[in-house]
Amino acid sequence: MALVQMHDMLRHAYENKYAVGSFDVVSMDFLQGVINAAEQCRAPVILGLAEPYSDHFDMELLATAVESAARRSSVPVAIHYDHGSSVEGVIRGIRHGCNGVMIDASDRSLDENIATTKEVVQIAHACGVPVEAELGYVPDNGNDLIFTTVDEARGFVRLTGVDFLAVSIGTVHGRFKGKPRLDYPRLRHINEALQIPLVLHGSSGLSDDQLHRLIANGIAKVNCFTAITDRAVELLRRNARSKDEGYMKLVTGIHEEMEKEATRLMRIWGCAGRAAEVMEQCHPWQGVDYVLKFNLPDVDSDEMAIITRRGRQIMLQIPGVREIKVSETLNGNNTSPQYCWQVSLASVEVVEYLKQHPEFIKFTRRYINDRATNLTNTIYRINQIG
Ligand SMILES: [Zn+2]
Repeated sequence: MALVQMHDMLRHAYENKYAVGSFDVVSMDFLQGVINAAEQCRAPVILGLAEPYSDHFDMELLATAVESAARRSSVPVAIHYDHGSSVEGVIRGIRHGCNGVMIDASDRSLDENIATTKEVVQIAHACGVPVEAELGYVPDNGNDLIFTTVDEARGFVRLTGVDFLAVSIGTVHGRFKGKPRLDYPRLRHINEALQIPLVLHGSSGLSDDQLHRLIANGIAKVNCFTAITDRAVELLRRNARSKDEGYMKLVTGIHEEMEKEATRLMRIWGCAGRAAEVMEQCHPWQGVDYVLKFNLPDVDSDEMAIITRRGRQIMLQIPGVREIKVSETLNGNNTSPQYCWQVSLASVEVVEYLKQHPEFIKFTRRYINDRATNLTNTIYRINQIG
């Protein structure tokens, strides 16, 4: 298993002046292409689940594939929730396995951006998850671009406690119309003032030299989507021109094409060849299970079903709770507990957060603590064998 703390990963990149690629994954082809590229060139990598694209796929299903690819990968991987628009979205991202989240309130007023980001930081940090926010505005075309200013950036980071900052220094999402004009002095000043990993959105279409200069000035995470999809679309068009137009023919070679482009970019960004040292210097990202075992002697199966439903409903609302498995003994005796509730948490930090959550306290007090016998609660760390 090679899931690592994103905070450690990006710190390493920032201090060693290279950047890690964060690729928004929208399909299995994407996932295979990117993870194969990272393994080929021994690069740490971030797999992104982007909220704006979530209408196109089942986020929960894709997240399961992403997490499983990360766990079996031989290079360090982090999973990022990209362009979250709300607190609820970010909580959902953490539930799906993201260990880094972006809250993007850059299209709102500065005060609103600060307030929303601050709220997300409080919740995400309680789950051990670092937060990226955006200041200034990186638009989908050149027209509405708003540059990040040094003073605002300094105040923003101080007030919100954000871990990484996406800056607007002349790039746009998607494809550039004309030549990109990048404001390097602005980036340098922001970097000197903040001293935290900076994030580049809108990297597609930049030259190697431009990317190198941006990375030398504090960019430690490069978001990438269009460069990869453009290569895939070209291949689809080529395949479509062939006589055999079946689906499998159409998608043949797609993830290999994506892998080629991702490998090329990883070499430019300087993350290629860094996997071993990143793995050595990053803390692993490990979930924990909070396991409650108990008997409820005066409760019949109908009431137990109600209690179970209610418990699941309450706990799944709590940030950092990922899943709840409820089981009952098959071969129990009078001394062993009959019920076992296995509550999977994003990280060990969530244990305290859960235990202090008013809804959780109210529920366990009413249904379990006052009525259960043989009650135990144990925390198990999920081992990194995979
Ligand atoms: Zn972006």
